[in-house]
Parts: sequence; C-alpha cells; structure tokens
Amino acid sequence: MSDQKKFLLSENDIPKQWYNVQADMPIPAEPALHPGTGQPAGPSDFAPLFPMELIMQEVSKDRWIDIPDPIRDLYRMWRPTPLIRATGLEKALGTPAKIFYKYEGVSPVGSHKPNTAVAQAYYNKIEGTKRIVTETGAGQWGSALAFACQQLGIESKIFMVSASYDQKPYRKSMMQAWGGTVTSSPSNETAAGRSILAGSPRSPGSLGIAISEAVEIAAQNEDTKYALGSVLNHVLMHQTVIGQEAVLQMEMADAYPDIVIGCAGGGSNLAGISFPFIPEKLKGRPTRLIAVEPEASPSLTRGRFAYDFGDAIGMTPLIKMHTLGHTFVPNPIHAGGLRYHGMAPLISALYDAGIYEARAYHQNACFEAAVLFARTEGILPAPEPSHAIKAAIDEALLAKETGEEKNILFHLCGHGHLDLSAYDEYLSGNMVDYSLPDAEIAEAMESLPQL
Ligand SMILES: *Cc1c(COP(=O)(O)O)cnc(C)c1O
Repeated sequence: MSDQKKFLLSENDIPKQWYNVQADMPIPAEPALHPGTGQPAGPSDFAPLFPMELIMQEVSKDRWIDIPDPIRDLYRMWRPTPLIRATGLEKALGTPAKIFYKYEGVSPVGSHKPNTAVAQAYYNKIEGTKRIVTETGAGQWGSALAFACQQLGIESKIFMVSASYDQKPYRKSMMQAWGGTVTSSPSNETAAGRSILAGSPRSPGSLGIAISEAVEIAAQNEDTKYALGSVLNHVLMHQTVIGQEAVLQMEMADAYPDIVIGCAGGGSNLAGISFPFIPEKLKGRPTRLIAVEPEASPSLTRGRFAYDFGDAIGMTPLIKMHTLGHTFVPNPIHAGGLRYHGMAPLISALYDAGIYEARAYHQNACFEAAVLFARTEGILPAPEPSHAIKAAIDEALLAKETGEEKNILFHLCGHGHLDLSAYDEYLSGNMVDYSLPDAEIAEAMESLPQL
C-alpha cells in the first residue's frame, strides 16, 4: 500500500472521548484572573456566559472526557474526515518527504469549527439556553455556530468583523440560511461597538471588538449565553477528535509524523491536529510541532507571554497568553481567521515550554503555496491553512536538500470556496504584504493590564 492516496476510517472510529492536554502540561497553564480584583476567576465568574459543563471542562485536569452520544451522532454527518497523502505535491516538489494532510473541509461549513460548535450548542441546549451570541472573523465560526444551533433548536446571533462582512458576503448568507442573525461589528447595538465607532467611524473591526459586543449582550440577557470558537481550553479539547483520527490514519499509512504543522489564529485547529501527538512526544518521540501565523498578526513570534484581556475593550477575564496587546488591530489580511491579538493559553504555555515551534509568513507566499497545492492536489485551500501548506512545502524542500525521508503531517482545516475574492486579488497581482513595524506592536503592548 506504499502509494495509497486516502486513509479512511469508519463511523465506529469517531473518537468516544476528547483528549484533555491539561492532564499532561509540563508546567500547568495559569488560571484566568478576574478583571476587577486580579484574583483567580472561579466558575461563578463565568456562569453568566457559559453553561456549567463547559466551565468545568475549562478547568478539568482529567486526561479523557467522554463525548455524549448526541454529539457523536452529529459528528457522523461529516466525521471521520479523510487523511490524504499529497502525492501530487510531493512529485511537484521532487521531495523524498511524505506529505500528509488531514482535511476538515468536508464538514457542512467547510472547516474544523463545527467540532466544537455542536458540542457547545449541545451543552447549552441541555442547560436551557434559548439563544447563543458570538463573534466571527472570516465567517467560519459564525457559520459553524449557526449550523450547530439550527441542529439543536437554539437561536444564534453573530457579530461579524466589518472587514469580513464586506469581503465575504456569502458567509453571511450561509449563517442566515441556518437561521442565524448577523450584524456587522463594530455596531450601534452595544456600548462597546458605539465606543469604537465614536473614535473610529470606519473601523474595519477586529475579533477582539466583536467579542466585546457579543459578551456584552450575553452578560445582559438571562436566557442568552456566549460561545467562543477558539482560544479557550474546552474549545481546543473538542478539536482533538481531529488529531485522534489522524493518529489512527498515520498508523494505517505506517508513517509516524516527524513534523506536525497547523496554522495558528487562536490556536484551535493547531491544537486539534497536534495535541494527540503530545503524550508520545513527552515520552521522547522527537516529533516537531509547528505553529504558523501571519506576519500581520504574529502573537507567538513577536508577542509577549503575559496576562491580557481576550477582547479589545477589556471586559473579559485576564488570561495568560502570547499577545500583541488587546488594542492591537491587525491589517485586513485575507486570512481573517488568523487576525487575533492573542493565542490560546494552552498553546502559549506549550510554546513557552519548548513543545511547539512558531514561524510567520506573508500572505503572498502563502497564496503561492495554496495555488501550487490546488494545482497538484485539486483542493482550493482557505487562506488560513495556506500558512500551514507554505510551512509544509518549506519543510519538504529542506528534506530534499538533506535527502531525508521525513513524514510531514499538516492540517488542511478548511476549503477556500468562499474566499475566491482573495484568490482574485492574488491571481491578478494585487495582493499586498503588510509589514508590521515594531513601533506598532510596542504601542499596543502599552495596553497590557498592569498587575
Ligand atoms: C477559524 C479558523 C482558523 C483560525 O482559528 P484557529 O483557532 O487558530 O484554528 C483557521 N482556519 C480556518 C479554516 C478557520 O475556520
């Protein structure tokens, strides 16, 4: 089976538990702090925003957490997802490396996001929530939440970052088709939105600003909860179904990965593909785990590991993460899902402990990689995973130089069928690489809370 293309599992192989990396942290991640008191935030601080089961998952140290059957039933709509060997890409590169990718674009919304959306909607449903409010950047998370809420019979309201609202109108239509209510952010519907618009009437918005708006609405309404598509511990844990399947599929391919690569916005798709390889790595297996971020929003490679707010206004608890400062507003690059000022606390802590490496690329280089991938493997990638493809290609070319037969696994966390305006811009030669001056980062860093 040495040149087998696809490695497919059956529905029985859908994981029955999520893997909680908190059980295996070399140095435990530090607790979230209450923004007013600076003391560790307890379950009651989060109760207005999240159902209790998710709050408990957030702080759990249990290595395995059972996936309720109704969630596994929903997973059956698209899981297990395929693992594919990039034989066409390998050939084009002339590399001795074997390149594999795990493809989450087969989900109803075309990305990995529904893995956590259906879980979050489920726990909300059984705890009596009537409406979930959230933010979305490129629109993938909003689509996933609208889809999940529709499946479980809950209303959804989505604040969509203004830059994406204009660039990606089709995402809005998807959310509306699944019954979601979509509002461009910053908006006039919240105090947070109005305060941003007062200072900057044409603000392109940011995930941080949209989070402020969604949190405000959830905090003010009893029957409304908030949901986050990335960053938090429970979100990353839900995504580990991806990597658990990939472990089995790499076994089928008889190729243990030397390198695992994912793009990193808030950290959830990277966690999903890579956390399940961490126990073996901690036992001494030398797999390299690589986070790839955009040069326009480089929280790991150029940010600081510090307590900061999760949102732009400073309403959320303080979390210890790699951050560019919560007032940082990234340039409107096409990889909208990677435009976040911070990085998941678990990824940040594991990066700090040397378990992960990180690198950053400009968007033209990533789109060049994406187009080569589309021409050799057929799938048109979303702009975000084009960062992972670029890194995989660079590693495969390095293996060619050294003559090493490396096994490279990367995460193709979504397709780009709703990102064609970005491809238009790249293919017509009009795509801009934004350079980010140190002074701009330094200025946003001044917004870090003093503890
Ligand atoms: C949301 C999203 C991202 C960025 O979020 P992570 O939490 O870092 O995964 C990346 N790629 C796709 C396709 C997304 O939908």
